[in-house]
Amino acid sequence: MKKIPVPETERKWLRCPYCGAKTILYSNTAECSGVYVMCTRNCKRVFEAKIENGKQVQ
Ligand SMILES: [Zn+2]
Repeated sequence: MKKIPVPETERKWLRCPYCGAKTILYSNTAECSGVYVMCTRNCKRVFEAKIENGKQVQ
């Protein structure tokens, strides 16, 4: 079964789960896990960028 590609229509900010700061941009087609992002704007903590079906999972 081939997945029908969803067009990229929207980009959202991945937010730090600790302080809510904007970190990286992801699109509505993004799938991501096991990628770690450092919050450079506020708390400097490292968290996992987990995205399923274009939505941030926390
Ligand atoms: Zn933060």
